[in-house]
Amino acid sequence: MNGTAHLTVGAAAGFAVAYSLQSDPTTTMMFVGLGGVAGLFPDIDSNGKLSNKITVSHKFVRTLIQTIGILILLFSYIKYFDMTRWIGMGIGIVVFFLATSITQRLMLTVTGIAVIAAGIYFTEIWALLLGIFITIASFIPHRSYTHSILGIIFFGVIAYLFEARVGIHGIFTTCMFGYISHLIADMKVFPFNKRGVKWFLPFSKKEF
Ligand SMILES: [Zn+2]
Repeated sequence: MNGTAHLTVGAAAGFAVAYSLQSDPTTTMMFVGLGGVAGLFPDIDSNGKLSNKITVSHKFVRTLIQTIGILILLFSYIKYFDMTRWIGMGIGIVVFFLATSITQRLMLTVTGIAVIAAGIYFTEIWALLLGIFITIASFIPHRSYTHSILGIIFFGVIAYLFEARVGIHGIFTTCMFGYISHLIADMKVFPFNKRGVKWFLPFSKKEF
């Protein structure tokens, strides 16, 4: 499935969560955006290949990382004050421009390390784990660990900690629905997928 479809399904999942929780318009918009990001997230491993060619999915990964940069910027602005706020916003801007300028594969590794650094600096465990997730994704093959139950659990821990930190109920559910929707949409049962999903990595390489 292509990026636009994943984005749409994830955003729809976010809207469904907001609807079921009767969220206010601002929270609804946030869930739609977050669902879209989560719906694209498993394909962050698209750069795991040696190719530096910019494909459609590369463009989505770039957009995704730019979004993370904007989120870091907003998070720092809302949650912090004084110097820490400006440093946080600075990191957000650096991540945004990293995504815009560096060649694909390296870009992802560097961005992951930048997010790890931000996580350590702010002692935000969710950001540290997110950085580790991105860094690992920059080295593994496409449709491997990010497209597995292990990937869901890893992303779930990040989403859980993020919800606890931001304090808005529904963030975790939105992230999970978005992420899992991606893996289901990538399954071989659908005729538009040539390859399937290795749900049980590293225990089994069987594709479904
Ligand atoms: Zn995928």
